[in-house]
Amino acid sequence: MDLNRTPEEERFCNQVRTWLIANQDDLKGDRTYDQAENMDGWMAFLKRWQRKLYDAGWSGISWPKEYGGRGATIIEELIFTEEMARAKAPNLMNISIGIELVGPAIIHHGTGSQKMRYLPKILSAEEIWSQGFSEPDAGSDLASLRTVAVEKDDQFIVTGQKVWTSWAEYSDYCILLARTDPKAPKHKGISCFLVDMRSPGITIRPTVQITGEAEFSEVFFDAVCLPRESLLGGINEGWKVAMTILAHERGTSAIKYQIRFRTELEDLISLSKSMTRDGQVLSEDPLLRQKLAQCYIEVEVLKYNIYRSVSQIMQSGKPGPESSIIKLFWSEMDRRQKEIGMELLGIYSQLVQNSKWKVDGGQWPRAFLWSRAGTIYAGSSEIQRNIIAERVLGLPKSNDAK
Ligand SMILES: Cc1cc2nc3c(=O)[nH]c(=O)nc-3n(C[C@H](O)[C@H](O)[C@H](O)COP(=O)(O)OP(=O)(O)OC[C@H]3O[C@@H](n4cnc5c(N)ncnc54)[C@H](O)[C@@H]3O)c2cc1C
Repeated sequence: MDLNRTPEEERFCNQVRTWLIANQDDLKGDRTYDQAENMDGWMAFLKRWQRKLYDAGWSGISWPKEYGGRGATIIEELIFTEEMARAKAPNLMNISIGIELVGPAIIHHGTGSQKMRYLPKILSAEEIWSQGFSEPDAGSDLASLRTVAVEKDDQFIVTGQKVWTSWAEYSDYCILLARTDPKAPKHKGISCFLVDMRSPGITIRPTVQITGEAEFSEVFFDAVCLPRESLLGGINEGWKVAMTILAHERGTSAIKYQIRFRTELEDLISLSKSMTRDGQVLSEDPLLRQKLAQCYIEVEVLKYNIYRSVSQIMQSGKPGPESSIIKLFWSEMDRRQKEIGMELLGIYSQLVQNSKWKVDGGQWPRAFLWSRAGTIYAGSSEIQRNIIAERVLGLPKSNDAK
């Protein structure tokens, strides 16, 4: 991969920077919402922000123009993501599920009319998406899922339960996995559906997490009728769609994290220079300096692994099992980085966002608690190690977990 930018890429980068500077008032918008206290306000703000980006042509940078994208290259997408993170701009509301997961799945497996129907509204945030994969007894071993979709006339009747469904409460559509052939081997009897979340028979029960937010929910399906056109990728072909989604969730979506980790490290370094303990400035503490230096090395290692993955996608068109290396590395690194934040804060690390004495807006305790999630969603660290052992190193299979 050539790491030098072409003149067109430099021009593109300047265009992004100019637009972000011109719209910097909006960038501060996310600081005004305490996510745990005002989730509705935060969601409405993110929707407006994405619409603004869409209207300016900044949503779906590498998506085809016919579906509302910019038709630019993956490198330009990478540049845009880096510039957004560098400006500390809020993420697009639909990014983590709609744009990064559902969009590629529809582009790869959808019919022409499904592409025209769903893709532009994902980019404009007119329709927010959630992902209904995990169930109470099917997380790592996703293929054991028990939600069923029974074919009847020209419909599928769905009954079952999903869990940990991020943004379910705010979503208009859900990409759902359900069993359509109970007699087939478990990976082969699953289909994928595009489900209108306002369909009769769907109940959503939010779950409050350790950060105080209720980002995800349990979702119950009680004889929910889905039209035939909601099937994505053919009957009993759902596992292939799921694999497309998981590869994107583990690989390409990490791009946006790298610069975020870098800017967070810079914040940690500033914090270490401004705080004292027992009369000593923390940046002079030899052990903390070692940890911050190690953190810098890891952020750089992540960057080059992401570039390697981008280069592979440019050659093959899709992420491979190597994306597990990136997922495992960034999520474990995130935990180490946020532990340093807690160590720097000392007793202040107990003060969360609504505390009068909080440091840095209370962001570090929240980030520390949140960092544990990364080593679980999109396949836990143990599952990523299994994938690396089996599919990258060619070691014998241990079981059939996802
Ligand atoms: C913040 C967050 C958001 C999420 N959002 C969504 C979402 O939007 N949609 C969705 O469908 N799901 C979502 N999930 C669910 C997530 O995908 C699952 O939590 C994850 O796959 C693990 O499944 P589980 O929770 O059932 O744990 P289990 O599979 O029960 O695992 C429990 C423990 O056993 C270990 N383990 C399991 N199998 C093996 C094995 N074969 N070898 C070694 N160790 C093993 C795991 O690593 C883990 O430590 C989300 C999770 C989190 C934390």
